[in-house]
Amino acid sequence: MLTVVIGPPAAGKSTWCREHTGPDDIIIDYDLLANALAAPREGESKHEHAKGVKAVTKAARQAAIDKAITLRDVDVYLIHSTPSAQLLSKYRNYGARIVTVDPGMDIVMERAKAERPWQMQQVVKKWYRDNGMPAKPGKVSPRKRGLDTKHDNQRTHLLSIHLDGTLCFWCGKPMYRDPLRNPDRAPLEADHSTARSLGGKIADRLLHMRCNRSRGDGRRDHLRPAIANTPGQEPLTTRDWLD
Ligand SMILES: [Zn+2]
Repeated sequence: MLTVVIGPPAAGKSTWCREHTGPDDIIIDYDLLANALAAPREGESKHEHAKGVKAVTKAARQAAIDKAITLRDVDVYLIHSTPSAQLLSKYRNYGARIVTVDPGMDIVMERAKAERPWQMQQVVKKWYRDNGMPAKPGKVSPRKRGLDTKHDNQRTHLLSIHLDGTLCFWCGKPMYRDPLRNPDRAPLEADHSTARSLGGKIADRLLHMRCNRSRGDGRRDHLRPAIANTPGQEPLTTRDWLD
């Protein structure tokens, strides 16, 4: 079984792997490989590596992956911060399960500042931008959008009873708890089927983040992609979503 462990830098992916593996399991971790290959130097960050070390590490890592995916009856854990959508689907074709380790941007930024080279903070911000979370939480805070703790709790409840693969009302595509399995690679949002502006009191279903925001107050529901995909028309594909 191949497990691909993804998440922002300093999320705790290595720690997660250590806690979830047995003595016969394999962990493919770029940083550990690099540290094994580099000559030890006192007092230097173990997350910064020379150009030559990086090149050799990359080759060693790829060789390890190529061999690992051919092994049966061995549990392999591959740490990969931000695989491309193509690479993720390749991993899935090998039957991989994808685990996201993400303790939240505040914690990750704090750790990155304390433990990583300063450039890493930009990488963390980019990870959250690319994964559909606002880089500055204050900017699009839930409170500003008129929501509150009750709404957050309701979303948590809806997620707890959510069956992966349930189709999204707006686009008709499957919805997943794992953000990276969704067409917009973002976490699901709780939606009011009767818009709040029209008297809807409680969020009663989940939608893809992008779909929830496209839907607005529901006045264009009859134009939603799920019913626009009538037979004879080319259906929307994941490619359409990846911009
Ligand atoms: Zn959708």
